[in-house]
Amino acid sequence: MSFTLHGIPVSRGIAIGRAYLIAPAALDVDHYLIEPDQIDAEIARFYAAQASVLAELEALRDDLSADAPSEMGAFINVHTMILNDAMLVQETIDLIRTRRYNVEWALTEQLEILGGYFDEIEDEYLRERKADVEQVVERLLKALAGAPTAASLVVHTAASNGHNEMIVVAHDIAPADMLQFKTQAFKGFVTDLGGRTSHTAIVARSLGIPASVGVQQASVLIRQNDLIIVDGDHGIVIVDPAPIVLEEYSYRQSEKVLEQRKLQRLKFSPTQTLCGTKIELCANIELPEDAQVAVEAGAMGVGLFRTEFLFMNHKDQLPEEEEQFEAYKRAVELMNGKPVTIRTIDVGADKPLDSMGGDGYETAPNPALGLRAIRWSLSEPQMFITQLRAILRASAFGPTKILIPMLAHAQEIDQTLDLIREAKRQLDEEGVAYDRQIRVGAMIEIPAAAIAVRLFLSRLDFLSIGTNDLIQYTLAIDRADNSVAHLYDPLHPAVLNLIAFTLREAKRAGVPVSVCGEMAGDPAVTRLLLGLGLTEFSMHPSQLLVVKQEILRSNLKAFEKPVADVLAAYEPAELQAALTALQKI
Ligand code: PEP
Ligand code: MG
Repeated sequence: MSFTLHGIPVSRGIAIGRAYLIAPAALDVDHYLIEPDQIDAEIARFYAAQASVLAELEALRDDLSADAPSEMGAFINVHTMILNDAMLVQETIDLIRTRRYNVEWALTEQLEILGGYFDEIEDEYLRERKADVEQVVERLLKALAGAPTAASLVVHTAASNGHNEMIVVAHDIAPADMLQFKTQAFKGFVTDLGGRTSHTAIVARSLGIPASVGVQQASVLIRQNDLIIVDGDHGIVIVDPAPIVLEEYSYRQSEKVLEQRKLQRLKFSPTQTLCGTKIELCANIELPEDAQVAVEAGAMGVGLFRTEFLFMNHKDQLPEEEEQFEAYKRAVELMNGKPVTIRTIDVGADKPLDSMGGDGYETAPNPALGLRAIRWSLSEPQMFITQLRAILRASAFGPTKILIPMLAHAQEIDQTLDLIREAKRQLDEEGVAYDRQIRVGAMIEIPAAAIAVRLFLSRLDFLSIGTNDLIQYTLAIDRADNSVAHLYDPLHPAVLNLIAFTLREAKRAGVPVSVCGEMAGDPAVTRLLLGLGLTEFSMHPSQLLVVKQEILRSNLKAFEKPVADVLAAYEPAELQAALTALQKI
């Protein structure tokens, strides 16, 4: 039966494919495809894990005292039987062999399938045996976690395996888990939770594939392998579409491909407005390798390197200086002389770190307002200096800038600058090279920072407006919460006036300023930002050309009046009229 679900559009385009449902438990394990010549080794990993769990169960049985309740022995017997059952063993091995899933992925997939069978059983006692299967699979996963994996040998592409038709459907996907999908050829994403600028949405956008978030109940209503259409422009998901609908969307999809092809022609033309103002378009990246994509898309530099993604998936400790240095250097080298703005770690809120657990972070009453980003870095000076040293060392290999997230107070800026001086002093003492003129900038993403921007202008070399958080904190709307997503409004007069004020003050002080939040990559507001005086944009590489197209059609002189009207408008109808006038020029 065909039905339609509505959510929040976060990444444009149309995807048509089969639903690939990911259970929350499955997200805790690695998902990757193995090469044909790794199949035997992967199956051997399964058998080794099975043998180790069998040994565990035997040991449990041996340890049972004579007066232990008989249920204990029965429980061990049941688990041993499950562990040897063909439905678990053979089917998991088949998934490894036929779909080339890594063993952890195959096991969680098979657990989902078996879970579905159990749910349909009428007899309550038998239905509850599902928990036993889950426990056995958990034991197997634990055993596997201690064993080496073939991950390092994997070629992370599914394009040749027919998996490129898959659309991920999940209740929620943490940003760290999204990173795993960066290397997989999924065609789209649908999640029950999430807001327009949640980091999960941001990573989906950086993958350049259609995605809708906040599609309530999607992971419950959509079944494994259902044919679905994701309309990432409108946040719509159509399940089991009628043939005529499928035809219509296939047509729209091919139109979009054509549009994209046409846009490619703009890649090498200079980025300037009709009136000749030069505009700088840079890229936002999450991993060093993304720099390659940025170059290919025609970016003039990296305007925002979100380094916290390097720190995720590090279970016990943060990466050492050397590992960080290599990562930053790689991005700098890939940009080949174009500047790279490296933002220091911005963890917290929807980007927690595994290794932050111990300090009460996870139980913070309100993580978005708590010890996050620079606040956390300043509370961990040793960790911060390690990162600063790594960035400074990378600056010897090409133009690099340091960007600090979430600053609000003068003393935070001063402490940060002191620590940068300390990192430089250490490197000087060790005779290590770095760029002595390295520029240090601040994200303007807290309303207090925008209003008191003079504190920043007198202390720092450049500013970058983070509209995602600026909107979140100005409107008191959690950017990752779909229940308030309808109130997350980039065009709220308070937001627009804060952006305008920051741009104006920075210009007056002669301090370069860019916008690196999601607004920068939204062609619907390109004219407005240009009209407010913005000349530096940083966005996902996939957005560069469509924004460039808007810039090439823009005449700044003609924007003056409608933009002044937008800023003066407080009533929604007035604001809308001024925006429409601006778009019509
Ligand atoms: C922002 O807040 O606008 C920004 C660019 O940073 P992030 O999205 O990583 O919080
Ligand atoms: Mg931010």
